[in-house]
Amino acid sequence: EIRVRFAPSPTGNLHVGGARTALFNYLFARSKGGKFILRIEDTDLERSTKKSEEAVLNDLSWLGLDWDEGPVVGGEFGPYRQSERNSLYKKYADKLLDSGHVYKCFCSSVELEKMKEIAKQKKLPPVYTGKWATATDAEVQAELEKGTPFTYRFNVPKEGKLKINDLIRGEVSWNLDTLGDFVILRSNGQPVYNFCVTVDDATMRISHVIRAEEHLPNTLRQALIYKALGFSMPSFAHLSLILAPDRSKLSKRHGATSVGQFKEMGYLSQAMVNYLALLGWGDGTENEFYTIDELAEKFTIERVNKSGAIFDSVKLSWMNGQHLRALSSDTLTKLFGEEWKNAGLLLESDGMFAKEATELLKDGIDLINDSKIVLSNLLSYPLHSTLSSEEAKSVVEDKLSEVSSSLLAAYDNGEIHKALEEGNVGWKKWMKGFGKSLKRKGKSLFMPLRVLLTGKLHGPDIGASIVLLYKASKGGLVSPDAG
Ligand code: GLU
Repeated sequence: EIRVRFAPSPTGNLHVGGARTALFNYLFARSKGGKFILRIEDTDLERSTKKSEEAVLNDLSWLGLDWDEGPVVGGEFGPYRQSERNSLYKKYADKLLDSGHVYKCFCSSVELEKMKEIAKQKKLPPVYTGKWATATDAEVQAELEKGTPFTYRFNVPKEGKLKINDLIRGEVSWNLDTLGDFVILRSNGQPVYNFCVTVDDATMRISHVIRAEEHLPNTLRQALIYKALGFSMPSFAHLSLILAPDRSKLSKRHGATSVGQFKEMGYLSQAMVNYLALLGWGDGTENEFYTIDELAEKFTIERVNKSGAIFDSVKLSWMNGQHLRALSSDTLTKLFGEEWKNAGLLLESDGMFAKEATELLKDGIDLINDSKIVLSNLLSYPLHSTLSSEEAKSVVEDKLSEVSSSLLAAYDNGEIHKALEEGNVGWKKWMKGFGKSLKRKGKSLFMPLRVLLTGKLHGPDIGASIVLLYKASKGGLVSPDAG
């Protein structure tokens, strides 16, 4: 059975890197008819918080990455929080002690420091060289009687190599001679991270461990523990880092990096999912637009790239626009309408005006939040006021004065308003006549008109905009202080 897991540490928000790891696990499970398991790795009691756990769960749900087993939903291999699995860790630690893969180490921290110091002077790796790996039963017994605190230390083979076949990176191997015996249980009884992960993955019957590249060094230790416990090893796939456009590590200084931030900024979860899937994966075609179901159908781990993926927020916005425009006109009207109403631009979020404005403006909007700016721009068209940019001025300068004075006249004598009473048809008719009287058509008519009416060189269809604007001012749909 295919069983994969996402194992976040609840010490902060869900970052795009973590979200991508979760997504790839989810897609892998879905593509293979397997199970996607969520496990909370809260062994770091000081840094783990309930609030962060809730935020991570919320963000995963928002993305649509529903888990088959884990917190909230339960499952037969629970509990799914490491902090609730201590007795299990103790049991397996003792098993390793009995089988001789682990020994009790009574070294004090002072002694351990000294070992490190000596290794440093001799330019050797800082590995454990204490006597407890080879101590006699009597020596151990004596310390126990004295009540000396001890850790459980894993007896690492001192030579040879360990190899794994990573599904993304191919063969990865390590020399064992530099690893040194490592602790699996602290003297206060707390199990260490790598040990917990191994026991969990094994007892939760995880078949494929798909996680970030930074966990590769942990994989070595975990693989040794698997072998010692006699568990069969899962397959491993280590995902490359997500980088900033300058190829440095993606961090806060590059802008939003957490899923919650994107959610707040008005991104659609389906765009986020689509974009994250493309960070290191593609189906080999030119296609870039996918729903989560299509992704689940197409996803294969073999097509995951082993070089770092660049997180490009411009592309993410673009993708969000693609997904926005793929929504039904009613859904999109509701989304924009709510936004406009909340911003005080509209009294009704789903009336005719919202619908028409959505149709007119949607091509220029990639983010729901931006819809406010775009509509308020429209509502504040200067009609016959001054030009807003030097650029606009230079393009139409020679044509401007003539069109300008005629337009002003038509505006002042009510001609335009009358035409607008008949909506688009009226506007078109008026435009034609207006052009004729000036012996202008095409660009030499539209450009100056657009600039004079809107103060800008570009924008949505000018006729539709003016008609809509007129309706807004007449129909009382727009708040009095709009724009
Ligand atoms: N808890 C680890 C993390 O948040 C993940 C460990 C794993 O996937 O093995 O980075």
